[in-house]
Amino acid sequence: MQYMHQFVDGTTFHFPLGKVVCVGRNYAEHAKELNNPVPSSPILFIKPATSVVPLAGEIGFPKDQGSCHFETELALLIGAELKNATAEQAVAAIAGFGLALDLTLRDVQQQLKDKGHPWEIAKSFDGACPISTFVRPDQVSLDKLTFELEVDGQVRQQGDTADMITPIIPLLQFMSRHFTLQPGDVVLTGTPAGVGPLQAGMNLAASLMDVGHWQARVL
Ligand code: ZN
Repeated sequence: MQYMHQFVDGTTFHFPLGKVVCVGRNYAEHAKELNNPVPSSPILFIKPATSVVPLAGEIGFPKDQGSCHFETELALLIGAELKNATAEQAVAAIAGFGLALDLTLRDVQQQLKDKGHPWEIAKSFDGACPISTFVRPDQVSLDKLTFELEVDGQVRQQGDTADMITPIIPLLQFMSRHFTLQPGDVVLTGTPAGVGPLQAGMNLAASLMDVGHWQARVL
């Protein structure tokens, strides 16, 4: 079944979900907390459509593969094809802003990293990418975007796009040189510091500025 993106106003986006293109270590403080070097160019990976679930209601995670971390990330809904995009084309292609959780099996990922292997099984499993509904671009300013995640009423992650190593538009341009971005694709822009393990029973509340608020309970 195809996953259809929704806007916060309840309308449905007219292209179904494609792929989710993600960037690793796009905030220096997060690279530091996992003892990773800050990369000199963006580290890209892809989550398949089968990893996407709504960031709403109840979300689950694998219980038998070590710790599963939440990474709260600004999500961009792509509304036009981008290939070798100019900055102007990249700006015009953003059809919505939301939040996503880049769920990561951290112990599995560490084992893969130690062996120099790809990360897919740690990051691309079914359910590994809860994505919120989207706010329309005219509701926010590209120059000033902040977001946060509360876990059981406590702020755990705070993101400010001003702290990104590769900002939104150059990031979209870089991605589009490697993968054509198509309408319905989603781009995750990296996690700020404060990642941690999911536990059953947690209540998550994610907000984007004062225009998007989403809640989910962890199963
Ligand atoms: Zn991430």
